[in-house]
Amino acid sequence: MRVDFKKVLVLLLAAGIATVAATYVHSFGFLALHAATLEALRPDSPRDLLQAFAALEPIDTHVHAFKTDPQFSDLMTHLRLNVLDICVADNHGIYGQLDTEIARAKGFVQASQNHARLCVTFDPFDLSRTDFARKTIEQLRREFAQGAVAVKIWKNIGMELKTPDGKYVMPDDPALEPIYRAIAGDNKTLVAHLAEPSSCWQPPNPDSPDYDYYKENPQWYMYLHPDHPRKEVILAARDHLLAENPKLRVVGAHLGSMETDVDEIAKRFDRYPNFAVDTAARIEYLMIQPREKVRNFLIKYQTRVLYGTDLEFLPDESTADALKEWQETYARDWRFLATNDTFQYNGRQVHGLGLSETVLRRIYHDNAVQWIPGMSSSSK
Ligand SMILES: [Zn+2]
Repeated sequence: MRVDFKKVLVLLLAAGIATVAATYVHSFGFLALHAATLEALRPDSPRDLLQAFAALEPIDTHVHAFKTDPQFSDLMTHLRLNVLDICVADNHGIYGQLDTEIARAKGFVQASQNHARLCVTFDPFDLSRTDFARKTIEQLRREFAQGAVAVKIWKNIGMELKTPDGKYVMPDDPALEPIYRAIAGDNKTLVAHLAEPSSCWQPPNPDSPDYDYYKENPQWYMYLHPDHPRKEVILAARDHLLAENPKLRVVGAHLGSMETDVDEIAKRFDRYPNFAVDTAARIEYLMIQPREKVRNFLIKYQTRVLYGTDLEFLPDESTADALKEWQETYARDWRFLATNDTFQYNGRQVHGLGLSETVLRRIYHDNAVQWIPGMSSSSK
């Protein structure tokens, strides 16, 4: 019988493609490979990274979205993404007046087709008023009744807000205690952005991930304000709050401001079972630390780290720009956490952590559901 070389060639080629596809599917395990085109087989193409990300029904527990656009709901549907939309009480008005900001966040949540939940906040600047706690608790209960699942406190507690006698208000201030108890009593979660990266207290360093932020926001650059509290003092007060409120679930935003050393986070996790952290705007700090150390930390404490980004969607922002940035960030973070790729980021060579599907599923989904009740995936 004559061998049909053309047929053999076609069969060999098909086998080759199947092997490449199998290897790829194996490396991502859980990835449903829809379009097995050669382009789609490039492991570093953003589309593939986002496809793998979407397969976990990811939850981003830290965004600031104050604009409504159907294209955003489409993006979240497409990525099977849920987000926690966080309000911030800032009297410098980064997101506008607090009432306006909360109304805009609610608009985003309502238009999200069940892909967003609200993390509300309260104005701490009335703290010395006698009815402060009562009024704040009333406000929070109204928000909880309307669907808010968490409450945010911000770095102005510890770094800006003062009592009438001129002392800085710390996060464990007795005036805040009834509020913490009410949040715990209503089974809601406290998201606490307290203190700042250590670079905030250090001389300017162009290599620091925060260099541009402090250049643009000198009011928050504590190196210029040595009369303000030290970072250690603020974090000690935060730890005291954790110890005093064991029934209150606290998610420390931005790696709990312990961004330069995962061992510092681990110490708090060991001490305070009511404490978790989000990764918002601090993935770069995980990239900088030794790979094996960070990888082991995330494996050991896989139930305590929540994926978050700090991505924004602001009223004066173009939707196209925001859509691009959100997708790029999700693809970049996925590449770091999920793959073994080596790539350049901000002038540094980064080696992906290649975390297992089990660990990724916890960080990207399960921990958010557990630590923030009400934050469940819409597609379940
Ligand atoms: Zn934020």
